[in-house]
Amino acid sequence: MNFISTRGAAAACGLSAAIAAGLAPDGGLYVPDTLPGLSAQQFDGCDTLPAVATRLLQPFFDGDALAPDLAAICGEAFDFPLPLLPLATARDSVLELFHGPTAAFKDFGARFLAACLARLYAGRERALTIVVATSGDTGAAVAAAFHRRPGLRVAVLYPDGRVSPRQAHQLGCFGDNIHTYKVHGSFDDCQALTKRALNDATLQQAIPLSSANSISLGRLLPQMSYYAYAALTHWRTQGRPLNFVIPTGNLGNAFAAILARTLGLPLGRIVLATNANAVLPQFFAGADYTPRASIATLANAMDVGAPSNFERLRWLYPDTAQLRREFPAQSVGDEAIRETIARRYRSHGEVFCPHTATAVKTLEDLRHEGVDGDWCVVATAHPAKFESVVEPLIGRPLETPPALAALLQRPAAAQPLSADYAAFAAELHRSFRAETVPPAIT
Ligand SMILES: *Cc1c(COP(=O)(O)O)cnc(C)c1O
Repeated sequence: MNFISTRGAAAACGLSAAIAAGLAPDGGLYVPDTLPGLSAQQFDGCDTLPAVATRLLQPFFDGDALAPDLAAICGEAFDFPLPLLPLATARDSVLELFHGPTAAFKDFGARFLAACLARLYAGRERALTIVVATSGDTGAAVAAAFHRRPGLRVAVLYPDGRVSPRQAHQLGCFGDNIHTYKVHGSFDDCQALTKRALNDATLQQAIPLSSANSISLGRLLPQMSYYAYAALTHWRTQGRPLNFVIPTGNLGNAFAAILARTLGLPLGRIVLATNANAVLPQFFAGADYTPRASIATLANAMDVGAPSNFERLRWLYPDTAQLRREFPAQSVGDEAIRETIARRYRSHGEVFCPHTATAVKTLEDLRHEGVDGDWCVVATAHPAKFESVVEPLIGRPLETPPALAALLQRPAAAQPLSADYAAFAAELHRSFRAETVPPAIT
């Protein structure tokens, strides 16, 4: 299969090239040039997440150098549990995407991307450096996934003082081939530095660079797998499609669900839940699409004012009226997030992270309006990752999942960096020159 740009002005390319490039050369996002059809029957015999993922992604890998490795990549990337559990409220369930190494759903995409790039860059003379700006979760997932991968190195930039202490610890605890920078500035400053580096042809000559942000095809495609797995599991036991409510920021997670349904998997309705950053709900309610600066909320991994995968949604649904009919969306403010976390714990003993709480609240409102069917809330992070928000609301300490506890045990450090491009470029030259042979990994 080939991949084309949403902006239509870049040459079609194969999967490996699209994954390595990140952004298409015309500034658009890579999308498949054809959409394969996949019915539930075609997954007969696929009973595990890696087996479902391999079957699902096969058409996308067809003809690519990575195709023979697809099953191995899925097995390696998806090696942690994916529980689909009933909630206390009837016909409601939760899909827990937070059992990976950094306790957030971004582990699925980051681990898959790393497994692909490790194979593409193994044995090459020049290492590939991944630059990633993060407001918290992305950087940790990418650092964990790329840690000690031969031929790959990572520069993580985060805004100093604007991530939670636990997030900062996770970002700085890897070392080896992971370089962590605490930038004296905002997340937007971090993003501006990485974008400029990725567009700096002179720098790229000396240091081959790539990105790992949420527009990366190598993160987007694998995210379809858990929706396929959950929907097939439900279909096989209940004979009905499963409807989803998805906490949404950059639309990477939700777009993967939409694409999986488009391919023919038994997903029913898809509803988006955002925090107070309401650009998507306002668009779906009929307003113009107006990207804006983000505002800070309790669900900080969804603090997005210009959702980067919106361009892919427009590509899939060029008809605005149809797009608006298809995807209801609701914005949930901080007060409702707090109220939902406290009340669900008090009434049912259920504990949700602030991101997941936006989806829980949205489903409650849908049920209140009388919506029918089997619904699944997508849980994007473990509540213990946001203990400073959740613990005071439920009035007890949360147990830290073992993978997260292991990371918190490691010593952590980050190098200070000013939000200045010349300083960043000089640092990249100093630490990442391609001639520098990466240290042997034992
Ligand atoms: C990144 C993230 C989201 C938002 O996902 P998008 O793909 O950007 O829409 C939601 N919840 C958590 C915990 C996240 O880390």
